[in-house]
Amino acid sequence: MNVGLVRDPLYLKHKNGDGHPERPERLVAVDQAIDLVAFADELLDLPAGDAGHDELARIHNRDYISRIAATDGERPRMLDADTGVAPESYRAALRAAGGTITAVDAVLAGEVRRSFALPRPPGHHAERNRAMGFCLFNNIAVAARYAQDAYGLERIAIIDWDVHHGNGTQWSFYEDPSVLYVSVHEYPLFPGTGLVQDTGRDIGQGYTLNLPLPAGQTDRDYAIAFEEVVLPVLGEFDPQLLLVSAGFDAHRDDPLARMQLSVDGFRWMTRALVEIAEQHADGRIVHVLEGGYNLEALSEGVTAVLEELTSDELREREPAGDRSTASEGLQTVLTKGERVLPRHWASLA
Ligand SMILES: [Zn+2]
Repeated sequence: MNVGLVRDPLYLKHKNGDGHPERPERLVAVDQAIDLVAFADELLDLPAGDAGHDELARIHNRDYISRIAATDGERPRMLDADTGVAPESYRAALRAAGGTITAVDAVLAGEVRRSFALPRPPGHHAERNRAMGFCLFNNIAVAARYAQDAYGLERIAIIDWDVHHGNGTQWSFYEDPSVLYVSVHEYPLFPGTGLVQDTGRDIGQGYTLNLPLPAGQTDRDYAIAFEEVVLPVLGEFDPQLLLVSAGFDAHRDDPLARMQLSVDGFRWMTRALVEIAEQHADGRIVHVLEGGYNLEALSEGVTAVLEELTSDELREREPAGDRSTASEGLQTVLTKGERVLPRHWASLA
């Protein structure tokens, strides 16, 4: 199956500063790995567009957008302790959000059924009026709003398996029942948000789902978390489009976190989400790169996910195993979830 791919040379121009883990070499490594895959003829390069200020303003406030725009062509500097800008960062950020829209557009227009956007800077920590955690504009949130406005979608699910909680994405849709946000992340860890009991506000109650897991979770634990909570809720929500905040920093070799996933774990999650997409969303699923700081783990992870996406058949996945075989940390979180989540989701009752 053809899978749309969004890459752009401008994504390499954004720099956070010397020695920073979120560096252009991440995408160079991914590019090199993609060039070597056996299924390269099934990847369809999509030309990335630029997001306009009106598209960004559905998620960010105009003053904030202007502040980032004002860095265009200026000297490199830090916006906070860990998020920097270079002279080309603003333009790269417009294209990062725009390229994510491109990936969504290609799927919703029926050009491809699945796509993967590989932008820099990443997006899921960017808040309404704040750059944060290596992120300037919230690419996936901007693209979700675009999908609603341009195609009238009523139910979009965002699944965030980056090892960090996607605070910016969560707050973007915290009072909004039309976008389900599901995050599986390491806790405690940056940014410190994403508790089980944080499930949304007002009419958005229930439409945020956080699984904050202690360090050390394995492929098996992630699979159990998916089978026990993530997949039933996705099925019940019945999304028309799946968006995946695909970070690869939950890999056991990542230097910024302490999870224990292997590349097989990312394959497993992709198979499970493709199945949900096939059952509920006409097969429409878009992956968007977030973090991942070990170059080898990152490039192997991205190519493994791409290989899964090119498969025409639903690939069988290893049985997750019984809940009693999950780590103690996961069992504790699942028990906490049982006190909160069945209120919103009959499938968990
Ligand atoms: Zn991350």
